[in-house]
Amino acid sequence: MGEFDLIRRFFTRPTPRAVLGVGDDCALLQSAPGMQMAISTDMLVAGRHFFADTDPQHLGHKCLAVNLSDLAACGARPLAFTLALALPQADEAWLAPFAKGLLQLADAHGCELIGGDTTRGPLNICITVFGEVPAVGAAPLLPTSALLRSGAQAGDDIYVSGTLGDAALALRALQGAFTLPANLMGAARNRLEQPTPRVALGQALRGVATACADVSDGLLGDLGHILERSGLGAQIDIERTLPLLAARTNFAGGTAQFDAQFGHDTALQCVLAGGDDYELVFCAPPTQRDAVAQAALQSATPVTRIGTMRAEQTLQLLDGQGRAISPASLQLASFDHFAAAGSP
Ligand code: ADP
Ligand code: MG
Repeated sequence: MGEFDLIRRFFTRPTPRAVLGVGDDCALLQSAPGMQMAISTDMLVAGRHFFADTDPQHLGHKCLAVNLSDLAACGARPLAFTLALALPQADEAWLAPFAKGLLQLADAHGCELIGGDTTRGPLNICITVFGEVPAVGAAPLLPTSALLRSGAQAGDDIYVSGTLGDAALALRALQGAFTLPANLMGAARNRLEQPTPRVALGQALRGVATACADVSDGLLGDLGHILERSGLGAQIDIERTLPLLAARTNFAGGTAQFDAQFGHDTALQCVLAGGDDYELVFCAPPTQRDAVAQAALQSATPVTRIGTMRAEQTLQLLDGQGRAISPASLQLASFDHFAAAGSP
């Protein structure tokens, strides 16, 4: 199967919304009046972001999901994406399920595959997504209604969607750190391999949230981006955050037994710094609590209030007794690709 056969068979689809899809030198998208394009790229490299033997259907899902998650974080509606693919060989048995996982998620979000590039090389998948947001929203000072990292105010509540840390827990189990009960491992592994981008919630939060980011590298790290861009600090309530680790909360023996078996530190690290969650962390003033609840309801996405933004530019974790613990004492490191010495 040649390059063009491969593109035609697996990646050429009707694109009713795009002016022009796969087949020419460029794809063409019509921008709607009053709307802005939101654009984001994410690359997934075998051996670094996923195990090379990952179920290709799950991988197809994940590589689009992580991109849709960036659109969600900006409150953008997905429109289209391009797919740049380096493949060691044109293996139909791999390509068919990969395309299935990818295109099923694309269809679920009305996001059209409009082009890409295909080459031989070590397995590497790079997607660029295009979405749209209204140019002017509720915040008249900004020339956009997109949710940014920079808009948070001191006193804002901090929320996170869904659950946190299960993907990181599954990764540790797959790396052999411990064995989880089969049912919990199945659910945790599903979080790692087939994350749910919070696209509907992101859009529902436009005009409600003051700042938003998606949690790809760990809660504290991604919240840290909001703190930095907003010039603020935060207090996070661990008692509210730890129950978001679903495997721990659902552990048959109870949370104390979970901690005894897998380590309280493991639970904390997975929740606070685990990575691969693809949830949204966002801020909103306390006056917007009803509006946040409404956005959660409307998007059928649970959200939990976990802390408060503060003027003092430090990140504090509060334990069950309201005592402040410094994140440094927990040896938490959110994932940073260049943090490990010598890594590429
Ligand atoms: P060019 O050489 O002009 O960059 P190509 O010959 O690489 O174009 O690609 C031919 C067409 O197929 C283009 O429209 C391109 O966008 C599309 N395409 C290539 N690879 C993919 C892919 N993996 N998925 C979707 N479309 C692709
Ligand atoms: Mg090309």
